Amino acid sequence: MENKKITAEIIAVGTEILLGNIVNTNAAYIAAKLPELGIACFYQSVVGDNAERLEGAIRQALSRSDVVILSGGLGPTEDDLTKETACKVAGSEMYCHEESKERLIAYFEKRGLTLTENNMKQVMMPKGGVVLTNNNGTAPGVIIPYENKHIVLLPGPPGELKPMFEESVVPYLKKLTPGVILSQTVKVCSVGESMAETMIADLIDAQDNPSIATYAKTGEVHIRVTAYAEDEARAEKLIKPVVWELKNRFGSNVYTTKEDVSLEAAVVELLKSGDLKLMTVESCTGGMVASRIVNVPGASEVFKCGLVTYSNKAKRKLAGVKKSTIEKYSAVSRETAYEMVKAPEVWPKADIVIGVTGYASPCEDETKTGLVYISCNACGKITVKEFRFSGNRQKVRESATAQALILARQCILEALSEKAFG
Ligand code: ATP
Repeated sequence: MENKKITAEIIAVGTEILLGNIVNTNAAYIAAKLPELGIACFYQSVVGDNAERLEGAIRQALSRSDVVILSGGLGPTEDDLTKETACKVAGSEMYCHEESKERLIAYFEKRGLTLTENNMKQVMMPKGGVVLTNNNGTAPGVIIPYENKHIVLLPGPPGELKPMFEESVVPYLKKLTPGVILSQTVKVCSVGESMAETMIADLIDAQDNPSIATYAKTGEVHIRVTAYAEDEARAEKLIKPVVWELKNRFGSNVYTTKEDVSLEAAVVELLKSGDLKLMTVESCTGGMVASRIVNVPGASEVFKCGLVTYSNKAKRKLAGVKKSTIEKYSAVSRETAYEMVKAPEVWPKADIVIGVTGYASPCEDETKTGLVYISCNACGKITVKEFRFSGNRQKVRESATAQALILARQCILEALSEKAFG
């Protein structure tokens, strides 16, 4: 089928974004959603609360894109001009949208707030526009069809914009694209993004339909395969062999092909499958590994205990690291990491113990900055790995957390295969 892509453009409205007072996360969110819908986005811009410049930006966007998505400036105050300006460009008259008015009155009544005259500005809608209900705030969104193009107006607060986008804009945009767009993500760990791209360079070069895109995540690479077809069955048929080939190339490093499964969920699932119990002994990650595990519903079946052994004394008293080991090799060493998971005092019966010790902040001795040791005791077999992470304190801790989960996964897989074959 013909593969003519719809193009979209994002305009974030607000002087506070221009000044750097708030980060333009709305554009990032929308931009990440568009490829999933098979829509190409070639331009993004930010405009302050100025009617003239906003009008210029909307006109320019309409001259080169099929869909123009604006965020912000739908509020009740004078400087909220997005709707009025978009209506001017589209030549749309405004009318009072009764349903929105009733919702607004009910919203204020429920909260015991006084409705002021300028609030009514929010329920004035362009004739011919598709009004988008706001279930999380007062400003409804609206889509204005204009000369085979579409102007989408969304409220600025992300807590309002995101659900409105999911509930109302996605179904609208889906109808604009011919046929269906289906995608599946192959989630890979233990392989860096450049290595992953090298491993599938031929597939990326030859891609057409389905398209293949890689996304680097902390410690992971997600490869999204997206196909266009007349119907879902045909799209699935296009995706299937590519996903199969990716699984073939990345082997056991593929931890899932399901959208809603995270790395920690995959680890919890593996633990459940082997009836294994987990414990964490963390230093520089301060409980982040445990926290990611606990995020998974049903983690209580496999997760027994998490220790934060931040001080040397805690490493000795709680995790059973010998004083002499710390004195001889230091708290951030292969040897300490090994002993942290060897026989932690409080829960000696966990099958899998993950340990993390490292330097999260810049050290005087630069060679030590970002140095982290991660250990895993899987049914008595201990593995220790050395890492050198870059970035600030938070980034180092996030990278260490991801790698701890990855090491745990590898060790659990090995333990399970030994259990099955040995
Ligand atoms: P309201 O009805 O709350 O006034 P609005 O549609 O007029 O909504 P703005 O006044 O432009 O939206 O922005 C309200 C708040 O939403 C901002 O103070 C900011 O916190 C957030 N916000 C606005 N635009 C963005 C953006 N592009 N990215 C992230 N957050 C944003």
